[in-house]
Amino acid sequence: MKAVTYQGIKNVQVKEVEAPTIVKPDDMIVKLTSTAICGSDLHLIHGMIPNLPTNYIIGHEPLGIVEEVGSAVSKLKKGDRVIIPFNISCGECYYCKNHLESQCDNSNANGDMGAYFGYSETTGGYPGGQAEYMRVPYANFTSFKIPEDSEVEDEKLVLIADAMTTAFWSVDNAGVKEGDTVIVMGCGPVGLLAQKFAWLKGAKRVIAVDYIDYRLEHAHKHNKVETVNFEKEDNIGSHLKEMTKGGADIVIDCVGMDGKMTPMEFLATGLKLQGGAMGALVAAAQAVRKGGTIQITGVYGTRYNAFPLGDIFQRNVNLRTGQAPVIHYMPHMYELVSSGKVDPGDIITHVLPLDEAKRGYEIFDTKTDNCIKVVLKP
Ligand code: NAD
Ligand code: ZN
Repeated sequence: MKAVTYQGIKNVQVKEVEAPTIVKPDDMIVKLTSTAICGSDLHLIHGMIPNLPTNYIIGHEPLGIVEEVGSAVSKLKKGDRVIIPFNISCGECYYCKNHLESQCDNSNANGDMGAYFGYSETTGGYPGGQAEYMRVPYANFTSFKIPEDSEVEDEKLVLIADAMTTAFWSVDNAGVKEGDTVIVMGCGPVGLLAQKFAWLKGAKRVIAVDYIDYRLEHAHKHNKVETVNFEKEDNIGSHLKEMTKGGADIVIDCVGMDGKMTPMEFLATGLKLQGGAMGALVAAAQAVRKGGTIQITGVYGTRYNAFPLGDIFQRNVNLRTGQAPVIHYMPHMYELVSSGKVDPGDIITHVLPLDEAKRGYEIFDTKTDNCIKVVLKP
């Protein structure tokens, strides 16, 4: 079969690889019909994630049709249409039972963290879903079955595997409530969708920050938010604090590490640089009000353990963070999309054949061709 494989920094290639087979009785094989590229995949191709071998199949936002089930799979059968969440969860352990499925104790033998598809040996070593077929372990739990009579097209539902659900969880986990002022750092797929959900939760003011003009314009046009280009401000943190008269109730970091410099190099700039490394996070620490909350959704690896805590401690700021437990929210996300209450589809700017994955990665990474979200069709 064909699959998108990691071949080194900024180098992905579609290659002919061996198709997956059932390994354990609760596995299933899914024939993928749509599979999206995520901002988290950019961390992979920037070389920010350790233990990612060459030829590794990447991708973790898949949707498809069940091809084959193992003998212990009782909830699904061949022909079912399914969305596969990016995290792999057993459904049995303490974390799965307490709605922190992204920290499942059983799916990752490699360490004290959960497991994700297509995200290195460190995150469980499960091949990814930018491919014609994928193996899904713990299939009874690690999947959402799309109702048989559903006519909602792939492009609207594929975002439930990660981007849309992560955005919803970000707002939920941050505790956004009626009347809040919310700042969303980043207007990529996750940030743009988080802006929609901030309104849905009753925010009275939503401000979006980025430096890519077409993305800021998209935010303004589709989400009716105020926008700020951080490159046009001397100090984005204090600018946002002024705009919000003392800081926002909630700041959501939908940026994460950008791979341009190490945290230590960033700290050595005296935190003056506005973008770079953890620029969004440092700005967030200034832009949040006293006693407010920063939700860190952007991904940071262990290289970022040198996080500057001063502002956060002195101002009683709450921190919330982690990998979104997607599985928990999938039924509600399906309800929002299928009822038309939320249409996440405006962020999909490119639908490409799997063969054109290399180009998809290039335009998504370099922010060219007005790219916001790429969906690949195996
Ligand atoms: P993306 O790369 O398309 O979006 C990031 C956006 O941030 C870009 O538009 C970029 O121009 C902007 N940006 C860069 N530096 C900035 C700064 N200093 N201030 C404000 N904006 C800045 O990626 P995405 O798909 O939207 O994902 C966003 C982040 O969320 C990534 O780090 C991704 O890994 C992470 N993520 C986390 C989870 C989770 O479960 N926590 C799930 C999915 C994605
Ligand atoms: Zn993702």
